[in-house]
Amino acid sequence: MIIKRGIAVSPGVVSGPALIIGTEDFRIPYKMVRADVVEGEVEKVKVSLAKVATEIAESERVASERIGKQYGAIFGAHLMMAQDPKLANEIEELIRHRRFSAEFASSQVLRKYAKQFQDLGDAYFAERATDIFDLEKRILRHLLGERREDLAHLTSPVIVLSRNLTPSETAGLNRKYVKGFATEIGGHTSHTAILAGALSLPAVVGLGSFLSEVSGGQMVILDGNRGEIIIDPDDETLDRYKDSAEEMRSVRKRFELLRGLEASTKDGLRIQLQGNIEFPEETEMCMEHGADGIGLYRTEFLYLGSSTIPSEEDHYEAYRKVIAAMNGKPITIRTLDIGADKIPGYFSHLYNGEANAALGLRSIRLSLQELTLFKIQLRAILRAAVGADVGVMFPLVSTLLEFRQARATLLDVMEDLEEQGIEFNRHVRIGMMVEVPAAAIMAREFAAEVDFFSVGTNDLIQYTLAADRSDPAVAKWFNSGDPAIMRLLKNVGEAAVEHDISASICGQICSDPKFIPVLIGLKFKTFSVSPQAIPEIKEVIRSLDSQRIEEITRKVFTFDSARSIETYLQGELIKLCPEVTR
Ligand code: PEP
Ligand code: MG
Repeated sequence: MIIKRGIAVSPGVVSGPALIIGTEDFRIPYKMVRADVVEGEVEKVKVSLAKVATEIAESERVASERIGKQYGAIFGAHLMMAQDPKLANEIEELIRHRRFSAEFASSQVLRKYAKQFQDLGDAYFAERATDIFDLEKRILRHLLGERREDLAHLTSPVIVLSRNLTPSETAGLNRKYVKGFATEIGGHTSHTAILAGALSLPAVVGLGSFLSEVSGGQMVILDGNRGEIIIDPDDETLDRYKDSAEEMRSVRKRFELLRGLEASTKDGLRIQLQGNIEFPEETEMCMEHGADGIGLYRTEFLYLGSSTIPSEEDHYEAYRKVIAAMNGKPITIRTLDIGADKIPGYFSHLYNGEANAALGLRSIRLSLQELTLFKIQLRAILRAAVGADVGVMFPLVSTLLEFRQARATLLDVMEDLEEQGIEFNRHVRIGMMVEVPAAAIMAREFAAEVDFFSVGTNDLIQYTLAADRSDPAVAKWFNSGDPAIMRLLKNVGEAAVEHDISASICGQICSDPKFIPVLIGLKFKTFSVSPQAIPEIKEVIRSLDSQRIEEITRKVFTFDSARSIETYLQGELIKLCPEVTR
């Protein structure tokens, strides 16, 4: 049994056979075989190794002829490995003594070798591990033949394990069979993590290198609450997980009781508790948990989930679905936030060779450059908003001029619709995300021009602390409780009060219960959180009163490090709401 710890990004505990994608690309259907087929399995390995050796020899010949002998020699090393009798013997032994299938035994042996190289901690040897994965892939291709199954053709439940998953790959996961996923890289607020929550898929990211320690088909427990995966669990662990499933059920029951109650503090301060969504289907969970509306609809997933550019009608239909499902409650639709890690295939030409996508042509910058595309979306929003309480929100605004241009484009589109006699809502609220430090600093000037603010702390933290939100190597700098973040939030909250506009937060900070008291103390009265976090956050709000909020907020501003702020807030949370712990 091996336990790996990473970052818990989407709750839930699931177990099942591992499907390793990226390195393996296909699934091993059986781990064990019957005694009477053992000899057949051994024979299969021999035949496959021979075929692989012929294949590599051919690659060596072609490479030597076309690009030179020194390149051909690269395959020479692969060939030696494939023909090494020790390799064949080890695989054979696992089949004979442990009755492993040919595929599972081959994968186990090669991954053991790869891990030995990786553990040497040297770049040269790490490359050799890649060579071994390559060899594994070749052997499995022969062994599995037609039984090769990729993500698109799953036929039974799996836990997906991968080095990384892009947001579009995550969006495309087949929810019928994929029970959860775990990745070596990725951070707490990466879009992949957010999507996992949206899809209600238990997920752990940022596990560091672990794929060489697990083989396809091996039993895995994925614990999205604790941020762990357990490879090949023993019986005691399996029993322990059965008990914790019971506990989860009782917590869920308690949360159900909260559904019909308001998100108000003990002394009557009403907080709007809304949901963040990526797909129209998520409105169901928002309504189930009693959300006061949708505070952030990330519309770019309409693009990421399809291979062609969505039409105005595609947009319109998606928005109408959300509006109808929310039954008169307010909805904030964010215009496209494409760029950085969210790039659909048909836009990849715009990003070729971009040095740093997070600082590049992202979000509103892209929309203002691709005006035709932007206008299609704005037309659809305005048409869909008829009879509904809708806010249009521009992402990643960094200057006043940019906001003005975006708003002018929206007004332009209104004129076009008017002229064409098409029905639309002229009274949509027009707001912006505050997620670039420049916008947070200039909050007063912005507040004089916008209808509302919504703070995107995921990006605000990334840009303020210069820590990539999806890179676990810099996760220790990516702290929601950093005093610099607290100060920026204070500035935004005060600016909103001075100009009497609404200020909400839609970044992941407010899905973390310990931050709720200080965020209310900083004058935010609307929170838009992951739908599954709604009951927990409501419980915290209902445990608070103004005096406590004020005390906690004052105290937070006496600390000078993220660690002291977060430790203090966690301590207060335990006192306030012992049953809500993270
Ligand atoms: C944010 O940046 O905090 C935010 C809510 O937007 P996204 O996570 O989609 O970048
Ligand atoms: Mg953002």
